[in-house]
Amino acid sequence: MKILANNPSKKTWLDIDKGSDFPIQNIPFGVFITKDDIITIGTRIGEYAIDLGAFHQLGYFNGIPLTDDIFMQDSLNDFISDGRKTWRLVRNRISEVFDAENPILRDNMAHRGIIIFDMNEIEMLLPIYVGDYTDFYSSKEHATNVGEIFRGKDNALMPNWLHMPIGYHGRASSIVVSGTSIRRPSGQMMNSSSESPVFGPTQKLDMEIEMAFITTDVNNLGEPIAIEEANEYIFGMVLFNDWSARDIQKWEYAPLGPFLGKSFASTISPWIVTMDALEPFKCEGPVQTPEPLSYLKHKKNGNSFDIKLQAFLETKNGDANLLSETNFKHLYWTMGQQLTHHTSNGCNVKAGDLMGSGTISGPTKESYGSMLELTWGSKNAITLKDGSTRLFFDDNDKVIIRGYCQNKEASIGFGECTTKILPTFNRKK
Ligand code: CA
Repeated sequence: MKILANNPSKKTWLDIDKGSDFPIQNIPFGVFITKDDIITIGTRIGEYAIDLGAFHQLGYFNGIPLTDDIFMQDSLNDFISDGRKTWRLVRNRISEVFDAENPILRDNMAHRGIIIFDMNEIEMLLPIYVGDYTDFYSSKEHATNVGEIFRGKDNALMPNWLHMPIGYHGRASSIVVSGTSIRRPSGQMMNSSSESPVFGPTQKLDMEIEMAFITTDVNNLGEPIAIEEANEYIFGMVLFNDWSARDIQKWEYAPLGPFLGKSFASTISPWIVTMDALEPFKCEGPVQTPEPLSYLKHKKNGNSFDIKLQAFLETKNGDANLLSETNFKHLYWTMGQQLTHHTSNGCNVKAGDLMGSGTISGPTKESYGSMLELTWGSKNAITLKDGSTRLFFDDNDKVIIRGYCQNKEASIGFGECTTKILPTFNRKK
């Protein structure tokens, strides 16, 4: 089945800005609440949110096998469970109905009033119920930098790293949607000034510029999938800020890995951009040497994506300070390899599971994906436009990650992944 929705010359009858992250070639999926407190699954074109529950009820999906209430839900999990064929039919139909030449909804003002909202009339919610969350560690540059900062140059990259995508099981309950503020976490840490551990608010609150992919039902327990099939099970991608408290992390991480230094919050962008929409932006990832074992070896080319990523720190006065510019294509291990490795022991992966890429650091200092690396282990403070400096984040800082893809013919984007940091919670006595 062709991906008709990707036609770069297609235009919509909706009035949208040139250069919008959400042209008609994007058609992402999300969940929003209207000012009348109605929760629905929707899509977005330009600055318009489209209520797919109403769109379906009014018959615009006629001929596509969908249950009546598939879009009148507070998560995309059931729709994601329906599989790639349905995602593609739905996306193609939306593209067809909003095509500039198609009068069916364009000329029906009554239906337009029911289906279409201004983005500023609605509020975005978490698009999926995250059953399980796994975070990988797939940027060679990031793993090398962190290894060097924590353990020194000689032991920077662990001996297993070049042979498999390293990951750990994260915490699903604390994944929040962009726009949700987070509290500075407290925890146990070892300060350089004291000989025994202390408990208190983290002094080293850091971001991790990542992307995450969302799966449909992949496999039955005990049945690994083959690498050639892996991409069939990936629904789409979001921007992902995997918050980290470096002082808590450093004291707790041996011997079992990340725990409370990571589990207090992770932020995702609200619109899931489908793998179908990302198809024109496929590219090659880094050459893998040594060659991976055969269960991890891709049989086809083009397993990475050219997705430009930026992180900004917005201070109280509204200044936007660019912290980093990186790209998804720098990742050493691909999503297909991550998913294949994840199921290689028979572990079952389900619809709505979220897989983080790991911090995406590029080869240059400007492209590092965390404050830990940007300041090189707190050696080089970052000076902001207002004259203040940062080694890590302060209370009331707002961190914004943006991402977009661009080629000669088209561009699509992910919007924003924004989080404001609030002071530590203090229980009133
Ligand atoms: Ca991470």
